[in-house]
Amino acid sequence: SRAKRYGKENKVPTKFSDVAGHEEAKRELVEVVDFLKNPTKYHQIGAEIPKGVLLVGPPGTGKTLLARAVAGEADVPFFTVSASEFMEMFVGVGASRVRTLFDEARKGAPAIIFIDEIDSIGRKRGAGIGGGHDEREQTLNQILSEMDGFDKNSSVIVLAATNRPDILDPALLRPGRFDRQVTIDLPNLKEREAILKVHMRNKPIAEDVSLEELSRATSYFSGADLKNLVNEAALEAGRVNKTRIEMHDFYRALDKITLGLENSSLTIT
Ligand code: ATP
Repeated sequence: SRAKRYGKENKVPTKFSDVAGHEEAKRELVEVVDFLKNPTKYHQIGAEIPKGVLLVGPPGTGKTLLARAVAGEADVPFFTVSASEFMEMFVGVGASRVRTLFDEARKGAPAIIFIDEIDSIGRKRGAGIGGGHDEREQTLNQILSEMDGFDKNSSVIVLAATNRPDILDPALLRPGRFDRQVTIDLPNLKEREAILKVHMRNKPIAEDVSLEELSRATSYFSGADLKNLVNEAALEAGRVNKTRIEMHDFYRALDKITLGLENSSLTIT
């Protein structure tokens, strides 16, 4: 999700092999890849291709990465928008921007639209007295009507990420909208090992580095945290002019990160 927040990529290099763990999620998303690659197969047999899939899970667990992998595997253009930044960037024109985004995606179909942080637009409507958030509601309504308006054969699939499915407007979850959910949890022990491996792939790692030990020392780390850990260890090794990253560097990085976490929780609360 640190990638571009608004834009179109014609060719996405990401593949499922770049995503460690999340086997169940990948199994479900392989289907989406097939919808995008072989839409006529489904149309001919009279099946309607799902329009929306919600990726649900805590921050940094790889929702954006998975969405990109779907586009990469299907070899279709990837249209991204972060809902929160979208609201800031296009004050007063949210709804018309949504229209443009969907128009472009339809022109490029088959295609993926990825909406990050959908909860910032998609919270239950009319919660506050007098509604209040007209801008947000109009933007949400536009997303709903775009999805309803998809031609049966349009082959545009909208993936949306959230860590708060509970606060979403039920209208978003109705059949024909985001009626499928894929859960992306924090990685378990084995998955943390696999994620560490992915991020060590192109780095000079010393023989004394134990993936198992690191994985044990990082409960509750997300994929993004683990990626950061590997980078911090590399910085640590570089700082003292090593040519390989040793276990010691990982421990220093871990210390630094956990201290940082403590400090930040002290300053926030
Ligand atoms: P957010 O909710 O904060 O947007 P996210 O769930 O979309 O987070 P990503 O932005 O996809 O998470 O993850 C950040 C980075 O962490 C990824 O680009 C990737 O490098 C790394 N990462 C996260 N999960 C995994 C994973 N399962 N395998 C490999 N790398 C991962």
